[in-house]
Amino acid sequence: MKTMKAVVFKGKGRVAVEEVAKPKPAHGEAVIRITATTICGTDVHIIRGEYPVAPGLVLGHEPVGVIEELGGGLEGLYTVGQRVIVGAITPCGQCFYCLNGSHSQCGGALGGWRFGNTINGAWAEYLLVPDARANLAPIPTGLTDQDVMLCPDIFSTGLAGAESGQIRVGDSVAVFAQGPIGLCATVGARLKGASLIIGIDSMGERLEVARRFGANVTLNTQDGDPLPEIKRLTDGRGVDVAIEALGRQETFEQALRAVRPGGTLSSLGVYSGKLVAPYDALYAGIGDQKIVTTLCPGGKERMRRLMAMIENRRVDLTPLLTHDFALDDIEEALDLFANQRDGVLKVALYPNAVHSRRLLEAAGVGAIDDQC
Ligand SMILES: [Zn+2]
Ligand SMILES: [Zn+2]
Repeated sequence: MKTMKAVVFKGKGRVAVEEVAKPKPAHGEAVIRITATTICGTDVHIIRGEYPVAPGLVLGHEPVGVIEELGGGLEGLYTVGQRVIVGAITPCGQCFYCLNGSHSQCGGALGGWRFGNTINGAWAEYLLVPDARANLAPIPTGLTDQDVMLCPDIFSTGLAGAESGQIRVGDSVAVFAQGPIGLCATVGARLKGASLIIGIDSMGERLEVARRFGANVTLNTQDGDPLPEIKRLTDGRGVDVAIEALGRQETFEQALRAVRPGGTLSSLGVYSGKLVAPYDALYAGIGDQKIVTTLCPGGKERMRRLMAMIENRRVDLTPLLTHDFALDDIEEALDLFANQRDGVLKVALYPNAVHSRRLLEAAGVGAIDDQC
């Protein structure tokens, strides 16, 4: 049996780098060799035991790689050696949910999210891709792994927060929390044509990046309640659209209070425990607000669109890749990321350690493009 290196979830608080069986594609599936991947906040929730995943599973859901082996039925569509990304969500394209346009809920609630949730994920040398025809997205020539690494989840999710909020040209938008997803929601608000974008966070360095990504105004919650300033900036009304990108009761409530009557709260947070909407913030239930939630859109067409934005230089997300690690050093990487040390935004992980620093330097990471 051929084996590969992978990061296996061992139960609450523990992961281990182990040798596991290398996957073999069945009909309609593909195996890709992972060249780069990342750590997501969701992975941290899983490892902390806050989201249930079965011990023994390989974690990670943000794959960049090269096609290693193709199962049957994919002839003429892809070739071995082709560079691809795969969305964190892998819809089948054929079930009730997919055919009703709810691709992320493929097969049932949250069912489109399979990598590192219900099947083995991307923190490994190789990854089995289900429904490959709907999910393998070729990387345009000229783009590096670093250029596209945030498309599978972070960019797709953050942008979807702006899309689900149905931001119109000239809208005022407040984005609560400027972590990687919130920063991509800020980019999304800019791309959707918002006039006023207010970025909110408690970390000064994140607000600095928010300004470079399109926020006109940033508010640091350490300086006090951001709501009076949001009201002041919007003639006392509140914003047209508020995006919640943290997943806490406190920020959900703040975002709801920041929305004008008739406005939209677009929630990207993953909440735990009880989520409460205070009656006064909802105008006793008759304030005409909309509350929408979004799970990361996936599938190869979504990935193609996101990579087209990068290829055509509408977006550059490489400034978010602040650190890189070999997959073998996953525990060190997790410790840094989970505790938000050293100004970390996103960590790049490389199964083949030779890749790392040299490629990041070649990609010019560190030089933040003012256009973005
Ligand atoms: Zn994720
Ligand atoms: Zn489906």
